[in-house]
Amino acid sequence: SGFVPSTNFIQSIINEDLKEHVYDRVHTRFPPEPNGYLHIGHAKSIALNFGIAADNKGLCNLRFDDTNPSKEEVEFVESIQEDVRWLGFDWEERLYYASDYFEQLYDYAVQLIQSGNAYVCDLSAQEIREYRGTLTEPGKESPYRNRSVEENLDLFRRMRAGEFPDGSRVLRAKIDMASPNMNMRDPVLYRIMRSHHHRTGDAWCIYPMYDYAHPLSDAIENITHSICTLEFEDHRPLYDWTLDTLGIKPRPKQIEFARLNLTNTIMSKRYLRELVEQNYVDGWDDPRMPTISGLRRRGFTPASIRDFCDRIGVAKSNSIVDVALLEHCIREDLNSKAPRVMAVLRPLKLVLTNYPAGQEELLDAENNPENPQMGSRKLPFSREIYIEQDDFMEDPPKKFFRLAPGQEVRLKHAYIIKCEEVIKDESTGEILELRCTYDPETKSGGANSGRKVKGTLHWVSALHGLQAEVRLYDYLILDEEQKKDEEVADWKERLNKNSLEKLTNCYVESNLAGAEPGSRYQFLRQGYFCVDTKESSRDKLIFNRIVGLKDSWSK
Ligand code: ATP
Ligand code: MG
Ligand code: MG
Repeated sequence: SGFVPSTNFIQSIINEDLKEHVYDRVHTRFPPEPNGYLHIGHAKSIALNFGIAADNKGLCNLRFDDTNPSKEEVEFVESIQEDVRWLGFDWEERLYYASDYFEQLYDYAVQLIQSGNAYVCDLSAQEIREYRGTLTEPGKESPYRNRSVEENLDLFRRMRAGEFPDGSRVLRAKIDMASPNMNMRDPVLYRIMRSHHHRTGDAWCIYPMYDYAHPLSDAIENITHSICTLEFEDHRPLYDWTLDTLGIKPRPKQIEFARLNLTNTIMSKRYLRELVEQNYVDGWDDPRMPTISGLRRRGFTPASIRDFCDRIGVAKSNSIVDVALLEHCIREDLNSKAPRVMAVLRPLKLVLTNYPAGQEELLDAENNPENPQMGSRKLPFSREIYIEQDDFMEDPPKKFFRLAPGQEVRLKHAYIIKCEEVIKDESTGEILELRCTYDPETKSGGANSGRKVKGTLHWVSALHGLQAEVRLYDYLILDEEQKKDEEVADWKERLNKNSLEKLTNCYVESNLAGAEPGSRYQFLRQGYFCVDTKESSRDKLIFNRIVGLKDSWSK
């Protein structure tokens, strides 16, 4: 038997199309508008389009849908390519720009005019809205609707030639002002807009609308299956009308799927742009951003994002995915890959009074208990170490199995210690350091390592540890309740004011000296961390917490 791709409703449509010879091949495209950075929702669309092409031995284009110059920039064109590539997808030579089709799109518009299917309309934007009617009321025909073909051709040519001011005229399709589908009530195809385009410069002062440019771009590229999000379902009749009226066969097929929504996340580019422009975050790649570049800087792996996209599947109706699933995917990926190391985020000094001053030793520490092939490393140990402040309580509740006066714990990979004395600042009462003794007989891996105590703590040798900065992140958006993109106006009220915590006095084990930017570790008992690619340096290591260890994902 042949290769059977995993089935989702889109694959079922494709199977049927291939069986019925509607198409004899599969060709998809990912069509971002270069007006911002890609986000995790785009990753879903990328994985879907490139995945479907691969599953069907077909092709997938990367096409910049750059028909609206007002917000488009080269910076975005470049970041989008970097992000798609980083996710692990390859368009090879199939990189296209809708703006490369401007001349063809113009010619098609002339054809529509010649066949009596488009006209130049002088109504203002406001009037066009008023004439369009409502869902319950048919629209009114424009007084310009019955201009002659000759007049329309002349006016459209002059629109292109720059004879008319911005917004003074549009080209409209002549369809049906009484259609129950508002998109079919003589939609605008072209508008006059003097705006510099990042590729075509000032060559054009008329620009095509998405609903017109998109089906034709698909047709020009011989796309078979044009996958888009659900809000375009109502636009499909116009997609089909455009291609059918121009006699284009075989017609690419528009298929809609539900866009990805995530809890605690707003994805619309408009909102992400505001976060960046108003300096709520440190750029599009801030580790809290749901952008691909933000996730990358945070420490997410391409594999974890692809795995996430696979797991959520494709749906026909909108829903909200728990962001805990994305976090689950990165934990799954890093569990067997990330070396374990020790880092103390909020240090409390601890002196082992019976450990000889000036003595040090190297302990054996496994790099990853989940993956013995990762071997072991040497961990320096000495008389003074740091432990985590909250691993000690002077007056602990009953089941506190960490350190307390008179209580014993094991130091991971090292010895059992006992807390003998608490040194405090006399005036403030602040705990300055702990005095402990260690039991030399209990060295981990040694002959008498079997003695059991309830708690095991991570630690860093004060003599050897490297001072580092650690950045802890929380969700940018507090509210669990997801709102539609149109409703994000109030996002500022839902903004988490405490989404970033910078800890500047952390200590990490000396083995992290020279850790490469972008490398990922599990800090024992703390979570997964990644060396920041933007600000970390050899002199001052900076780590981003990718995710904590506790998995809140439940199926
Ligand atoms: P946004 O509304 O977030 O600004 P967009 O749809 O305007 O996104 P485009 O650059 O036009 O952004 O999107 C490129 C492709 O990615 C489109 O096919 C679009 O449907 C898809 N896409 C965008 N957001 C999502 C999402 N949340 N889930 C799935 N696909 C998405
Ligand atoms: Mg779009
Ligand atoms: Mg958009």
